[in-house]
Amino acid sequence: MLFDTHFHLDLVEDNFSLVQRLEKMKIYTIAVTNLPKLFDHTEKLCKGLKYIRPALGYHPELASRYKNQLPLFRNLIGRTRYIGEVGLDNLSKTPQDFNDQKEVFSSIMNLCAEDGNKILTIHSRRAEKQVISMIGNNFPGKIVLHWYSGSLKDLEMALFYGFYFSINYSMTQSVNGAKIIEALPFERILLETDGPFTMLDNVPFTPLKVEIIINEIIRIKKNKAPAPKIDAWTFYNNFKTFLSN
Ligand SMILES: [Zn+2]
Repeated sequence: MLFDTHFHLDLVEDNFSLVQRLEKMKIYTIAVTNLPKLFDHTEKLCKGLKYIRPALGYHPELASRYKNQLPLFRNLIGRTRYIGEVGLDNLSKTPQDFNDQKEVFSSIMNLCAEDGNKILTIHSRRAEKQVISMIGNNFPGKIVLHWYSGSLKDLEMALFYGFYFSINYSMTQSVNGAKIIEALPFERILLETDGPFTMLDNVPFTPLKVEIIINEIIRIKKNKAPAPKIDAWTFYNNFKTFLSN
């Protein structure tokens, strides 16, 4: 009943044995990638596995430099239902870079809409408003905003549009992250590690430790108001609902 909707499997050492363990433990994992060229490798790692799903990605911080991989993205899109990580990042970017990102992201969203029923894990740092409005209210697929760090006002809009939010350990340890977790209804919360970009005691996170994030979310939710009964099953049910709607 554990899952991780955003994990960089290809950036982890010894990922072959990790994948075998995750599969054995039945931890559903969306293995995101950062460029179309990198998809093949992760697809091979996940071949024949039930619980580990390879995602086709185009990280916004690489989009401008690797704009020429868009045709490859188009060629690969039919090979997986999972897309990520994709999105926009406007932390210390030049206007040119950000414009390129918007072009690439817009093309990606069009391709996903055409192909239909995709599951997208989306990066939106310092560009939440643009990301949410570019996806819009009627996107024909499922949206998870990963490591959301924007305003509560934009969060409301994203909720209104039906998006989900994946929460990682770093978010549970920051003031802003806790505010976001408090503001989110339980039923829209999913779990992610974003390993190896998040750490616990200097060890990069993997889906094996996703339960720690559950405990931290429960701790934060209990600070506020009388919390309804929540446990690992609550989150797993969210995940199932998310996939099935
Ligand atoms: Zn990531």
